Amino acid sequence: APATLHTGRHFLQIPGPTNVPDRVLRAIDMPTIDHRGPEFARLGLAVIDGCKRVFQTAQPVVIYPSSGTGAWEAAILNTLSPGDRVLMAETGHFATLWRKMAEKLKLGVEFQPGDWRHGADPATIGARLADDRGHAIKAVMVVHNETSTGVTSRIPEIRRAIDQANHPALFLVDTISSLGSIDYRHDEWGVDVTVAGSQKGLMLPPGLGFNAVSDKALAASRANASPRSYWDWQEIIAANRTGYWPYTPATNLLYGLREALAMLEEEGLANVFARHDRHAAATRAAVRAWGMDILCADPREYSSALTAVMMPQGYDADHYRGVVLDRFDMSLGTGLAKLKGTVFRIGHLGHFNDLTLMGTLAGVEMGFDAAGVPYTPGGVIAAMNSLTGRAENL
Ligand code: PLP
Repeated sequence: APATLHTGRHFLQIPGPTNVPDRVLRAIDMPTIDHRGPEFARLGLAVIDGCKRVFQTAQPVVIYPSSGTGAWEAAILNTLSPGDRVLMAETGHFATLWRKMAEKLKLGVEFQPGDWRHGADPATIGARLADDRGHAIKAVMVVHNETSTGVTSRIPEIRRAIDQANHPALFLVDTISSLGSIDYRHDEWGVDVTVAGSQKGLMLPPGLGFNAVSDKALAASRANASPRSYWDWQEIIAANRTGYWPYTPATNLLYGLREALAMLEEEGLANVFARHDRHAAATRAAVRAWGMDILCADPREYSSALTAVMMPQGYDADHYRGVVLDRFDMSLGTGLAKLKGTVFRIGHLGHFNDLTLMGTLAGVEMGFDAAGVPYTPGGVIAAMNSLTGRAENL
C-alpha cells in the first residue's frame, strides 16, 4: 500500500510537461479521422494558421509528431551540414544537450562558457561574430528560456548584436519552454528557425515538435545537400499548403492543439505573457521571503515560466522534493546535471492561475517544515501580497 493516500488533484508543477486543461483533453478524446480526407484538411489549415499567430510569424510553421529534441534535430539537419561551424552559449543543461546533438551531427561547435546563472551574452556573441571576418560561423544557436536554470536569454539584443557585427549567420532559437508563456516574436526578432514543443506553454501532452522557418532558413535548406528525409521541411511545407502532411500526422494531438490555440487567443497573447510575468514575480517574492536564493543572477533574465530555487547549504533538494511528493502529491522540478541536489524548480507556466500558484507555494512552504529544511516563514503571504498589490499584511 502507498505510504500516503492522496486525494484531490495531483499538482504537476514541474516546468513541463504542464497541466493539460480539461478542454484540451476533451478535444483530444475524439475519433481519429482520415488524414487524407476533407475534414482533416480543415484541421490542418486551422492549426498551422493558429501556430503562425502564436509564433508571431507570417512564415511557415512545420509541425512534427516528435518531442522537442526531434524539432532541435530538424532545425539543424535542414539548415546546416557536417563540418559547418556554429556558435552556441552554455546557458545550462538544455543548451549543453543541444550542443551534444550538434556535435553528433558533425558540426563544429564553439560553446561560449557560462555559469548556469546567466543567459547568452549579446556582447560576447557580437564580439565573436565581429572577429569572424571570413564568415566561417554559419549559425548562432541559443536557448531562449533555459528550463534547467530559470534564465531567459535576451533574444532581441542577441539579434542586434548579430546585425551590428554585420554577420550573415542564421539565428536558431529554442523556445521549447517559452512559447506561449514568455513574449516571443519570430518575425520581428529576425529569428531564422524557432524550435518549440507541445508540452509546456502550449498546454498539450508531449508529442508535437515545431519549427518556425524564415525565408532565409528556407533558402539555406534548399541549398543544403546534406542527407535528411523525415525531417526535411520542403515536402511537409508543400503538403501543408492544402492542410495535409506527407505522412500520418498525430491527428488527436492536433485536435488538442486547435483547442489550446483557441484558449491562448481567447485570453490574448499579451495577457498570457502578463499573467506569466505576474506569477513569476509573486514566486520570487515568496523565495526572497523564505530567505532563499533564486538561481538566475540577473533580474533582466528572470524566467516567467519557472523559478529555480537554491537549497540551503547541506540540504538535498531531491530529498525535499520527495517529501513534497509524498506528503502533498505535488511534483516539483529536479535539479538537472550539475544542479542535481542543489536546486529545485517551480513551474508556473501553462494552464495556471492565482490559486494554482498559491496552492503550489503553500505546498513548497509546508514541504520545508515536513522535510526539516530551514526557512523563514512568510513566503506564501509575500506571494499573496505580490498578487494583490498589497504591500503589507503581515
Ligand atoms: N529544450 C528545452 C529548453 C527544454 O526544456 C526541453 C525539455 O524539457 C528540451 C529542449 C527537450 O525537449 P523534449 O524533452 O521534448 O525532447
